[in-house]
Amino acid sequence: MITINEHYLKLQSSYLFSNIAGRVAAFQQANPDREVIRLGIGDVTRALPAACIDAFHRAVDEMAVDSTFRGYGPEQGYEFLREAIAENDFQARGADISADEIFVSDGAKCDTGNIQELFDTGTRIAIPDPVYPVYLDTNVMAGRTGKFADDRYQGVVYLDSTVENNYVPDLPSEPVDLIYLCFPNNPTGSTITKDQLKAWVDFAKDTKALILFDAAYEAFIRDDSLPHSIYEIDGAKEVAIEFRSFSKNAGFTGTRCAYTVVPRECRAFDSRGDKQAVHPLWNRRQCTKFNGVSYPVQRAAAAVYSEQGQAQSKALVDYYLDNAALIRKAVADLGYDCAGGTNSPYIWILGQRDSWEFFDELLNSAGVVCTPGAGFGKCGQGYIRLSAFNSHENVEKAMERIRLALG
Ligand SMILES: *Cc1c(COP(=O)(O)O)cnc(C)c1O
Repeated sequence: MITINEHYLKLQSSYLFSNIAGRVAAFQQANPDREVIRLGIGDVTRALPAACIDAFHRAVDEMAVDSTFRGYGPEQGYEFLREAIAENDFQARGADISADEIFVSDGAKCDTGNIQELFDTGTRIAIPDPVYPVYLDTNVMAGRTGKFADDRYQGVVYLDSTVENNYVPDLPSEPVDLIYLCFPNNPTGSTITKDQLKAWVDFAKDTKALILFDAAYEAFIRDDSLPHSIYEIDGAKEVAIEFRSFSKNAGFTGTRCAYTVVPRECRAFDSRGDKQAVHPLWNRRQCTKFNGVSYPVQRAAAAVYSEQGQAQSKALVDYYLDNAALIRKAVADLGYDCAGGTNSPYIWILGQRDSWEFFDELLNSAGVVCTPGAGFGKCGQGYIRLSAFNSHENVEKAMERIRLALG
């Protein structure tokens, strides 16, 4: 008899986005001539930088000729991309990361989901609330949690991110082994200072824990005092793995390219308490289960680091940051408390009412779609998330409608 992995049955059906789609469809049916503006999705809307498209085309042409054709590439990514990443994203910021510590992949979503298979099933996990659902659900699938009850999985240490702690969770008061952090944060848009991040690094060192640091939104940081990488913090190489992506800085959500940094010094422990390096384990995992990102996509990603690519991707992010500033100002002018919107494409708004009630109100009175905060965890109840991923015109129009509806 073939038996299923019953941990899958514990998963809460991902009703968030289908529920949103259902409500929007019902609204459109009832109001066929009202235009809906979507500020709910976490997907980019603008085209790839021209430098990336040029490199992409050239690489496709190489594939058309026997002498330049490429078959299977290195599972860890091509050297040209790994070198460019190490140099530009780390060494240029004083973080001593080398190319062989970079693992190129087809997404930070897959990597943050796959990485947990390196660790014991009994690993105690600490997960922020609200949270990007991938971290939680992949651990549920692996059997690292109990049942879902009272809005939470049993056996998980939740790290509350609330207005009281400025959406940067406090260090846990109970023992944990694996800690997920994401800054700039999705969904709250909050950022972490170097001192705050250092406290987490020191905590991981002192308690033999490991940090998984998701920096998918680092390109949105404009405040020079904020860390772009956890490796800007002394000692982090031993206790942290970092995830990056070309999705949000260069519009690769549909093109697919990301990378994970596993420093040589990064350690975990075996059941005897002896240190084990994580780098060879992740390398082994990738070589066994993954065959690399396509050559043209890696060429397109490497073009992000060219002079033109840098200017074009910065302009892309600046465009969304202008939208974010507009949203943040409009919402603050209406008297709402909010986080994010600077150094982040997300604005996290305390609605003083049920998340779904606020969602319906914005949809019905302004024709604007947001994401209800409750969909990201218990601490998201009472909040909504607005996203800056849309055109200036749509964002301006949406804010004008919200002003009229709620002002
Ligand atoms: C968008 C996003 C990513 C990027 O995922 P990809 O699979 O690389 O597209 C990673 N983490 C968070 C929190 C995100 O919002």
